Amino acid sequence: MKAHLVGSGLASLAAATYLIRDSQVFGNNITIYEAHASLGGAMTMLGGPDQGYVLPTGRLFEKEYRCAFELFSLVPSATDPRRSITEEILEFNERYGYDDRLRILDRGGHAVRSERFGLTWRNRIDLMQLALTPEEFLDGKAISDFFTEDFFVTEFWILWATLMASLPQHSAIEFRRFMYRFLHLLPDLSTMKTILRTRLNQYEALVVPISHWLKSQGVIFLTEAMVTNVEFRPSHSQITAKTLEYVHNGKPLKVEIGDDDLVLVTNGSQVSGLTIGSMSQAPERRVSDADWSLWRRLASARPEFGKPETFFGERCVPDTKWLTYTVTTRDPRFFELMTELTGSEPGRGGLMTLKDSNWLITVAIFHQPEFLNQPPDVMAWWGFALYPDKRGNFIEKPMTECSGAEILEETVRHVGFDDDLARIVGSSTCIPCFLPYAGSVWMVRGRTDRPKAVPDGSTNFGFIGQFCEIPDEPIFTMEYSVRSARTAVAALLNLDRGPPPIYQAHHDPKVLERVFEALI
Ligand SMILES: Cc1cc2nc3c(=O)[nH]c(=O)nc-3n(C[C@H](O)[C@H](O)[C@H](O)COP(=O)(O)OP(=O)(O)OC[C@H]3O[C@@H](n4cnc5c(N)ncnc54)[C@H](O)[C@@H]3O)c2cc1C
Repeated sequence: MKAHLVGSGLASLAAATYLIRDSQVFGNNITIYEAHASLGGAMTMLGGPDQGYVLPTGRLFEKEYRCAFELFSLVPSATDPRRSITEEILEFNERYGYDDRLRILDRGGHAVRSERFGLTWRNRIDLMQLALTPEEFLDGKAISDFFTEDFFVTEFWILWATLMASLPQHSAIEFRRFMYRFLHLLPDLSTMKTILRTRLNQYEALVVPISHWLKSQGVIFLTEAMVTNVEFRPSHSQITAKTLEYVHNGKPLKVEIGDDDLVLVTNGSQVSGLTIGSMSQAPERRVSDADWSLWRRLASARPEFGKPETFFGERCVPDTKWLTYTVTTRDPRFFELMTELTGSEPGRGGLMTLKDSNWLITVAIFHQPEFLNQPPDVMAWWGFALYPDKRGNFIEKPMTECSGAEILEETVRHVGFDDDLARIVGSSTCIPCFLPYAGSVWMVRGRTDRPKAVPDGSTNFGFIGQFCEIPDEPIFTMEYSVRSARTAVAALLNLDRGPPPIYQAHHDPKVLERVFEALI
């Protein structure tokens, strides 16, 4: 049996690992096709200490990522091959767990911390009402359909939205799934004590060790290999892939797919079309459709393959775009000031959202070092914004039009370090990154807009990643991508062992008790 996996993000890396573990497929019978030059999809990392690091995205997670932790336990960590990635993560978080003391900062420099997260009775009843509405009644509904305006300025919403990346106009289905799946995090949302992260950035902590391990098993990685089509055998009742077409280094190629072979397609990417700016230039605003073009082609012939245009296309960008920025410096001043302001040493403070910034900036000060090759005198931190189209409060233009220096200035002035502005900006490299589709997974959708991981009647073909449907599991998580791979591999190979059940926080009476205490 041969397996063809489209995309080199976490979903494909997980699928390859499960194929080797669960079905004894030889590694050299697995090919991973990646359209771009680098591996890892959303977890890609670029740059270095001198030109400035670039992390287009960053990830937090929690202990009930059951599939992800299972995957990570199968692979040795990047820093110590005697330990698994899971062991490394747990040990690191045990020692350097979050204890956020300043999760939200207002314009006056004050911490925002209110009783019951600032929720009124009305807000709490609305939350309950959405939670109690079955998913089948939420097709096409937005979060804003369930709440009054004041909900979206509460401390709860700011905490939730900047952790889960939702906007009021996003999908009520997803919001409801998040509530059930992550309810147990609610009492500690401000301190982030129950939130986990990797010791290094996720490219080096996850993608590098998993792809090394797969390569050691013989798995073939084809980069700059864009899969353009999958053809199926003619049949009314079955879906059986028969050929896969791709362009590798500009050359069109075709592979025959046997009935016993397997094709798994990552049918979209949240980092599709990402562009990178510099200290002096804003990222180009170019919306590329390449990373979902295969899905569009396949779905155009088969309605059961979903509706990619719900999530992608120029129409979606106003609701899906993000701007992130990575700052590299050799001057400790910004870190010293942040430690003073937040009361947390670097890496312990979790996220800090600048509530009154028009762009809704959130900053993450990493535990150092964040990168394997980071010299001891270099420091790096990260930020992102959910409203980059708005004009800044200090830099009076949209963030999407700002250079790294301007974004850094806006951030520094919001936190009130004006006296040190010139020194901080002068000693830092801030590289912005425009992600037109980061929030695409959150788009208002109907229940059939995403194809099933294994479409009905499929004998050797499946979808993996964020844009296939895994009932009850909320998107925007690594867990979703890993679970999709685990589900597709188990179903297509008729394995006895399927994925572990999805954690549902509301089934745990202890969680409910804590949540009631926090909210009522
Ligand atoms: C800004 C941001 C913040 C996030 N924060 C968190 C977080 O805090 N916690 C968390 O758990 N998760 C988070 N996530 C989500 C998580 O990182 C992603 O969902 C996950 O990494 C996606 O993995 P994937 O393999 O499904 O897709 P991707 O990583 O997107 O990989 C898909 C790959 O497929 C390739 N591809 C697409 N089409 C083709 C083709 N036709 N031929 C060849 N290759 C193709 C693409 O180039 C891409 O490399 C975040 C994501 C983003 C964007």
